[in-house]
Amino acid sequence: MITDTCTKDELCVEACPVDCIHPKKDEGAFEAAPQLYVNPVDCIDCGACVPVCPSNSMFALDELPAESARFAEIQRRLLQLSQTRTEQPLPGAGPDGLGAGFFSTMGYA
Ligand code: SF4
Ligand code: SF4
Repeated sequence: MITDTCTKDELCVEACPVDCIHPKKDEGAFEAAPQLYVNPVDCIDCGACVPVCPSNSMFALDELPAESARFAEIQRRLLQLSQTRTEQPLPGAGPDGLGAGFFSTMGYA
């Protein structure tokens, strides 16, 4: 998963073999998104994104620092929403940018 030190430079996007990191520069939600996110359904847990991140923002779930624990909840919500394929914004969407536009970009609209 990705934490809020992400600078949206897309180095992980280039490294990801299954194109599961969004939103990308050519997607509508990119400008508004505070960071990039991993689509948990498509991610194959290959780990290729972790070493290329210059801001150390990429973590496997079991390696997430305690101070970044809230991102595990964001990832859980992403998984929940992607499984239900709903356009509805997540409860509490706002500061994290996890609104309907973001998920439309991810193909869930
Ligand atoms: S490589 Fe790191 S800083 Fe760059 S977009 Fe990915 S998570 Fe964000
Ligand atoms: S672990 Fe692999 S599949 Fe998952 S986001 Fe990173 S590069 Fe993509």
